[in-house]
Amino acid sequence: TNMFSEPITQLANLTSTIQYTIASAERIFQILDEPEMSTKQRDIPDDKTGDVVDFQHVNFRYLPDRPLIHNFNLAVKPGSTIAIVGPTGAGKSTMINLLEHFYDVDSGHIRINGVDTRNMTRPQLRKNMAMVLQATWLFKGTVFDNIKYGNLHATKQDVYKAAKLSHADDFISRLPDGYQTELNENATNISQGQRQLLTIARAFIANPKIMILDEATSSVDTKTESMIQEAMERLVQNRTSFVIAHRLSTIQNADDIIVMNHGHIVETGTHNELLKKHGFYYRLYNSQFAGVH
Ligand code: ADP
Repeated sequence: TNMFSEPITQLANLTSTIQYTIASAERIFQILDEPEMSTKQRDIPDDKTGDVVDFQHVNFRYLPDRPLIHNFNLAVKPGSTIAIVGPTGAGKSTMINLLEHFYDVDSGHIRINGVDTRNMTRPQLRKNMAMVLQATWLFKGTVFDNIKYGNLHATKQDVYKAAKLSHADDFISRLPDGYQTELNENATNISQGQRQLLTIARAFIANPKIMILDEATSSVDTKTESMIQEAMERLVQNRTSFVIAHRLSTIQNADDIIVMNHGHIVETGTHNELLKKHGFYYRLYNSQFAGVH
């Protein structure tokens, strides 16, 4: 084989990776730059269809020659939990990106309470969906302000309550200046687990209709891990939620599971329905969770 082709392919891949990264960063800054919404805009219009989120004939590709999501349909009932599962690169984040309208679908619709997300303003989307993802977004400022950022109209008591619900109050009370402790850039002066608890507190205070969570386990100690898990379970209770799921209990309890592989949705259904199919989910389950209870 041509000794040059391999590195050049790698370089091409790297270049495109960098381009995606820049594109995502630009999008994030656009989103951050958007002005706060007025209170009038806060609520999604009243539910007319009975479904909170409705994916209808959704098609999507990042690149023209690589179709990913093909004719995807899913009606999500209010209060239900949707687990998104699959290996790395399967397309889990892509689903979240579409739901958040970080990208336009190529055809079809994603509607929230009957309204196409393309017709919703960024602040409307942001106020109705909170995300607790792996990369936490904390800024230089006090712990208090970092929690309150989830809802700028929140009172002091709201902030304390959110910290309690998320179990963040436990470590906050042990910080030198408590809630007034200054976080530095990217909050590197607290631990990864503590950053996650703060992000969860921020999600509680935002109190959105739709919650988006990434359960990916990070390098945190067992005690913090179980606090995060408990807080996340509380966060999705009685709320429509999409969870990039890694825990067996989350997957088993989900009302619907979206199973993804190589960028495509390969199956949907409940845990029991999917097991009966003896398909991709069945194999994934057996390879990842066999013997786990
Ligand atoms: P997961 O979240 O399951 O790890 P992703 O949704 O990030 O998977 O990725 C699904 C597929 O889409 C992968 O093949 C990935 O390389 C590709 N992909 C992700 N983001 C982009 C992008 N911005 N542009 C082009 N391709 C992308």
